[in-house]
Amino acid sequence: MEKICVAVRVRPPVPTSSDDGEWQTSNERCWRIEDNRISLHSPFDSNPASNNALSFAFDHVFDRSSSNGRIYGLLIKDIITAAARGFNGTVFAYGQTSSGKTYTMNGSEDDPGIIHLAIKDIFKNIQMMTDREFLIRISYMEIYNEEINDLFCPDNQKLRIHENLERGIYVAGLREEIVSNTEQVLNLIKVGEANRHVGQTNANVRSSRSHTIFRMVIESRGNDASCSGKSFTADAVRVSVLNLVDLAGSERIAKTGAEGERLKEGKHINKSLLTLGNVINKLSDGGKQRGHIPYRDSKLTRILQPALGGNAKTSIICTVAPEEVHIEETKVTLKFASRAK
Ligand code: ADP
Ligand code: MG
Repeated sequence: MEKICVAVRVRPPVPTSSDDGEWQTSNERCWRIEDNRISLHSPFDSNPASNNALSFAFDHVFDRSSSNGRIYGLLIKDIITAAARGFNGTVFAYGQTSSGKTYTMNGSEDDPGIIHLAIKDIFKNIQMMTDREFLIRISYMEIYNEEINDLFCPDNQKLRIHENLERGIYVAGLREEIVSNTEQVLNLIKVGEANRHVGQTNANVRSSRSHTIFRMVIESRGNDASCSGKSFTADAVRVSVLNLVDLAGSERIAKTGAEGERLKEGKHINKSLLTLGNVINKLSDGGKQRGHIPYRDSKLTRILQPALGGNAKTSIICTVAPEEVHIEETKVTLKFASRAK
């Protein structure tokens, strides 16, 4: 079993949407980063080193000065290299709404995100592996209220998960596009993003309530040039799956007196993130008291099952907001993160 890599990223302070560019204060008296450790303490606590502080160590802790490129290099690049060589991989962005999950996965003009960098790197990797031929397929889906929707094809809604011997676990009817270069993939992702917004009054609200999975299936076989003399190994087919997942906001919705549709969304999100936490916790337990792994308890974990555990490589980036108003959610996120180690 591969170790699950867990990192925390604190974003820079950003203007709130509710005011006219007024900046919330990032209260750095509340938290402190030293190397791979982040500590939180009460803002009323005059001594930052007091024993009341909550302190957690992770594989990496990134402060506001870390770019997506740096995070990619330290946390993700190895997963991509391995994926080109036949190993499954999954990357999650976990955290409350507005903490920087989508920024981390999709990036900005100046700072391309994990998905962009991963795609570029996959193509770079496979170009260097001249002894193999590759077939790359991508798909893009959203899980909203425990319903799976195809972001490449808006008519494909409420898709079902199937399992058989030939294909393993798969989403029936999900469109897969065969791709051969970075530009093509980035254009398809734009189409997917646009589909996500169809018919929605408030796309931001929806995006904070849904999980999105960008998936790449990388298939390769040894080509003729490498077969001479050892065709039995060179010809072997390898198939790996890479999932890049932007999770729904982890904030606890139910407690704020939500009703109707909101409450339903909140319950589904809580359930799938709770299940994800349980699955990851069991996996990172290293088999000690692992027992039953509850993949089937949510669509999210069921879809990801083949690329979690075993020899799959997994990284979780837990994003947190620096502002004092978010300190309670930040604590919850850090506790989730430390359970995943
Ligand atoms: P989430 O997807 O978790 O809801 P977003 O990624 O949309 O959060 O981030 C919220 C806001 O903060 C966005 O305006 C985003 O551009 C900005 N932001 C998040 N992380 C960073 C970062 N590391 N550097 C600069 N801006 C960021
Ligand atoms: Mg988002």
